[in-house]
Amino acid sequence: MNLILMGLPGAGKGTQAEKISEVYEVPHISTGDMFRLAIKEGTDLGKKAKSFMDQGALVPDDVTIGIVRERLQKDDCQKGFLLDGFPRTIAQAEALDVLLSELNKHIDHVIHIDVPQEKLVERLSGRRICPTCGRAYHVLYNPPAKEGICDYDGAQLIQRDDDQPETVKKRLSVNLEQTQPLLDFYKQKGELVAVNGDQAIDQVFADIQEKL
Ligand code: ADP
Ligand code: ADP
Repeated sequence: MNLILMGLPGAGKGTQAEKISEVYEVPHISTGDMFRLAIKEGTDLGKKAKSFMDQGALVPDDVTIGIVRERLQKDDCQKGFLLDGFPRTIAQAEALDVLLSELNKHIDHVIHIDVPQEKLVERLSGRRICPTCGRAYHVLYNPPAKEGICDYDGAQLIQRDDDQPETVKKRLSVNLEQTQPLLDFYKQKGELVAVNGDQAIDQVFADIQEKL
């Protein structure tokens, strides 16, 4: 199964992707996670992405499309994949179409996790992530068993640099502008499935499973 997860920053893409990936046995491909890893490792890709991410801006399309092109050709994508946070622009969606036709693949479903905008700032400001495995927690809505510590690997949780209030506002406005045309793009193709993301995490996942 080839899937795309869409939703504004904080909608719960990463949280649901982890569950989908486990149950449907498809690799979770997050462009944001790939950029954060590259920054941590100090690679050329990380250097290119960092200034854009710090400002809450999108990384240029050619860079982003390049990493997805490489990633989708890896062996683990043979039986399916789950894209999280890509595509985020029409140019990326069009490039993905070209790439998939070259690889003889197609998208089965585009899942849109829909959350009212006013909820997103609270979700993002309470988000804490594990620097080792990338899992997201929330101080109120999804706390780890032991405060500040990842349940899976015991690492100390951190706040993402771009989850600071000023960057959050910028990210939301950038993404709001880009999202509607993308939703229309996939609606026209008949691939779009909307899920109410303003519910408990397990209920959102149950709704996704029902739609799939
Ligand atoms: P995205 O990948 O779309 O930016 P995340 O999955 O990282 O979003 O979730 C953003 C924040 O909101 C995290 O702190 C996460 O724990 C929390 N969260 C995710 N889903 C829900 C939900 N259904 N209800 C409340 N909080 C949620
Ligand atoms: P969120 O969904 O919470 O915004 P992500 O981890 O998906 O978080 O993205 C973090 C940042 O990484 C974005 O603000 C942007 O700078 C960069 N990024 C991730 N995916 C893309 C993409 N498809 N195109 C351009 N930039 C991206």
